[in-house]
Amino acid sequence: MSENVSILGLGTMGGGMAANLLKAGFSLTVYNRTAAKAGALVNDGARLAPTPSEAVKGASVVIGMLADDTASREVWAGTDGALESVQPGAILIESSTVSPAWIAELAQLASARGAELLDAPVTGSRLQAAAGQLTFLVGGSDKALETATPVLKAMSKEIVHLGPVASGAKMKLINNFLCGVQVASLAEGLAWIERSGLDRDKALSILKNGAPGSPLLGAISTRMVNHDYTVNFLLKLMAKDLAYAQSEASGCGVQLKTSEAARSHFEAAIAKGFGESDMSSVIEPLRKQ
Ligand code: NAP
Repeated sequence: MSENVSILGLGTMGGGMAANLLKAGFSLTVYNRTAAKAGALVNDGARLAPTPSEAVKGASVVIGMLADDTASREVWAGTDGALESVQPGAILIESSTVSPAWIAELAQLASARGAELLDAPVTGSRLQAAAGQLTFLVGGSDKALETATPVLKAMSKEIVHLGPVASGAKMKLINNFLCGVQVASLAEGLAWIERSGLDRDKALSILKNGAPGSPLLGAISTRMVNHDYTVNFLLKLMAKDLAYAQSEASGCGVQLKTSEAARSHFEAAIAKGFGESDMSSVIEPLRKQ
């Protein structure tokens, strides 16, 4: 593969994405705030850089996979940030779920360095990242996407071009708004089932196989029943996504009242210490009421 690729952020998602870039044969440099998380990737041939600025030297494609706006700003534009040394002509891909407002600002910062930004947040979770089966929701120019496509293909089953820069970020927030509301309503419904005297398995089977059924409801209800809160998607990140969604929709004159209600459950779970657990643990405070 001809591209030199850098990936910034090796968390639940970035780690799997990096492994697939190596498998596809790209020359890969990685950066993570907690360097220890790069161990397995370095054993498999990645170079570990001490700062984002060092990580992007010589890279034609740079991917960010970071927690939120604050982390993204820190890694791209902070001290020793990636923008200090991106090479002119590089394609920068922000795959973190961040606000469209930050994407617009980052696109300008990239342009001032002679680079071009694509926003390309993903659907799919830990397992899809590890299997190279993500879906990228892309905003940006046709030309930049054409250059980035071989790199994105190594990590995905689908690449959807939604329009100009920030289109992917907007779509991702709409997607996660619907997911967050469904997970919170499932938590309420399951807590209710558990206190109702109904047979829990029969009740869940009706929901899973009936009109409310969805891949999310199926997967998350099983985790809630089993109290399995090993992390696929950190609970605190869903609270963040709903906050960004509310702010973005409000800018379009739409008040997300269901998001407000759902977010109050995620915030309550954070207050009870579940922020670093999987989002399915949002049911726990409801069980203990
Ligand atoms: P994660 O496991 O929490 O990883 C977050 C990454 O951001 C880590 O590399 C972390 O570094 C870094 N980070 C956090 N704060 C930082 C800061 N202030 N400065 C520098 N680096 C910082 O999260 P994830 O699950 O991989 O998610 C990454 C992004 O993808 C998020 O925007 C999330 O919403 C989105 N997403 C997640 C999923 C999912 O199912 N997990 C699915 C779709 C989209 P350390 O390792 O040092 O903490």
